[in-house]
Order: sequence, then C-alpha cells, then structure tokens
Amino acid sequence: MAILIVDDSADGRTLIKRLLEKHGFHDILTAESATDAFDMLGLDRQEGFTENIDLIIMDGIMPGIDGIKASTLIKAHAHFADVPIIVITATDEAELLDKAFSAGAMDFIIKPIKQLELKARVNSALNMKHAIDQRKAREAELIKVLEELENVNRELNRLSSLDGLTGIANRRHFDQIYEIEWRKAVRTGRELAILFLDIDFFKYYNDTYGHLEGDECLKKVAAAAGSVLKRPGDLLARYGGEEFVVILPETEIMGAAKVAEDIRAAVENCNIPHSASSITDHVTVSVGVAARKLSLTGKPQELVALADKALYEAKNSGRNQVKAAGALL
Ligand code: GH3
Ligand code: MG
Ligand code: MG
Repeated sequence: MAILIVDDSADGRTLIKRLLEKHGFHDILTAESATDAFDMLGLDRQEGFTENIDLIIMDGIMPGIDGIKASTLIKAHAHFADVPIIVITATDEAELLDKAFSAGAMDFIIKPIKQLELKARVNSALNMKHAIDQRKAREAELIKVLEELENVNRELNRLSSLDGLTGIANRRHFDQIYEIEWRKAVRTGRELAILFLDIDFFKYYNDTYGHLEGDECLKKVAAAAGSVLKRPGDLLARYGGEEFVVILPETEIMGAAKVAEDIRAAVENCNIPHSASSITDHVTVSVGVAARKLSLTGKPQELVALADKALYEAKNSGRNQVKAAGALL
C-alpha cells in the first residue's frame, strides 16, 4: 500500500518516512510541496494518473499552497476522492481542524509526532482505504453481472418471440403485436389488414418428400412471404403448422390483396417441386385477406375470423389464389 508524504521540511519528511519504515511500511513517496505532490499524482492530467496512492500524509502549513488547500484540490479529483489524507498540524486548534476536515482530511496528527500514534492512525486510514477498495471492486463486479444478465434477458426475449424452424415471428409474438395493432387501429381510425396463408396439399408434400423436406419447404415459404413485406410495421408470423399470418397496419383491402397476391406469386416463383399437388407440380399457397376499420365495440378475433373464412374460400375455389373477405376481388 503506497503512502505519499507531503512536507516542505526535509527533516519532517525523513522523520515520518523513517518511522513508517520502522513499522513495516515500505512503499513510501515524498513530495516537498503541494505542487510537487500534484505533479507526482498527475493531477493536472485528464487521465493516466502516475501513482496509485492509498494514503497521503500532508503537512498543514507549507509555503505556497498549504496542506488544507492542497487536500481540497486533491479530493476534488474523482480518482483520488477515496484516498484518505492525514494532516499534520502544530496545534489542535478547533478552527484549523475544522478547515482540515472540511478540506477532506480524515484524521490529523499533532506535532511532535509520536511513533505509536502515527502507526495507529496510518493503520486505521489504510484499513479504511482497503475496505473502500474492496467494496468498489464488489460493486463493479455486480454491475458487470447485472449488465450480462440484461443482455441474456434481451436475447431470451428475442428468442422467445421467434419460431424455431423458420426464424420468423411465432404465434406468441403475433398475438402480442396483433393486440397492439388492433388497439392502434381503433384509436387512429385507420384500417387494419390481416392475411392468412396456408400451403396447398402440404400433407401430401410431407407424405411424398418426408417430414424433413417438409420443414425445408416451410422455411422457403416463410422466406418468400417475408421478402414481399416492405413496411417496417408489417409482420409475418407462423400461426401454426403450415399456416402463416401477416399483419398489415394502416392498409386497405385493395392494398392488402395486392400484398397477398405478391406473396402467392413469390411462393409460386420459388418453384419448389410438389409432384403430389392436384393443381400444379410445385408448391403453392392459398391466401385469405381481411381489412377493416375497427371500433371498440368489435373484437380482435373478428378480423382474424374474416381472414380465415376468406382463406377457406380460396381453398374451396381451387387453391393457389387470393380471396378477400367482403368479395372485393
Ligand atoms: P390444404 O391444401 O387443404 O391446406 O391441404 P393440406 O394437406 O395442406 O392441409 P392439412 O391441414 O390437412 O395438412 C397440413 C399438414 O401440414 C399436416 C402436417 O403434416 C403438416 N405440418 C404441420 N406442421 C408441420 C411442420 O412443422 N413440419 C412439417 N414438415 N409438416 C407440418
Ligand atoms: Mg392447414
Ligand atoms: Mg394446407
């Protein structure tokens, strides 16, 4: 533990240093003035302080900057705020001691210095500094752990909203976002659109190519559908099995039907072979569309049910097509 002695008198410095060494303190630096001490501490620099000092023993009365003023200046630096300062005084005059404590000194020693008193006060100051250092290290460790925990939580949150197979939003995330968008649409009076997509004859696809190929197909369909969406508020989610859902905020039925058709075409253009399909030789999707202005008297499920019904119509009308609720197409 390093100790800095600041005293304009060479005899004073030597005496304190000798006494400290006698009691087993070895890492001792000396400065003959406040400015000398500032230089050693690197006080005028913004960073890169020269010394890690654990205790400063400061003569109270020195020519130029005295020990009280010097203590104030050192303590003003965040880097040295925890370093205890013991002021050496000639008297125990209350006014002087009051100034020393106000300047940040933690203790004082009255001249002539008695070695046992010096040893006891230095030990207690160093113990205090040690305790502060340990507490700070624990705090820093705790902050680090909390930051790591926050990162893990953020990542967990992100992962818990994603579908493990396709990497797009999962049903849970869809439910959350849909609820938010539904309320927003009620508030703003703008239309909210929902698309439901379902792969045509997917059961036959699995039967023909196997479940693993089926999974690959789901990934490709998700990617193709996702590539069509351009607005930041649009959300594609896996609704379950081979069904996908899209939320299109502030979108009217014609716009939503256009997006639905683009998705249908994008899937068809992937040209994923499907020899067991009754309508073509590649994978296709049917899409149901619904868009409505909403009011608080309605229920969020109603719009979803409309899109689902439109999907059912698309299936019944031959698949690989888009149907809009309200028969605008
Ligand atoms: P339709 O054209 O009427 O939609 O016929 P379909 O065969 O696609 O409809 P159905 O609902 O009967 O079959 C859906 C199939 O989707 C059944 C199931 O095996 C398959 N499926 C659901 N989830 C998954 C999945 O995660 N991976 C794979 N590979 N297949 C899945
Ligand atoms: Mg289905
Ligand atoms: Mg299907």
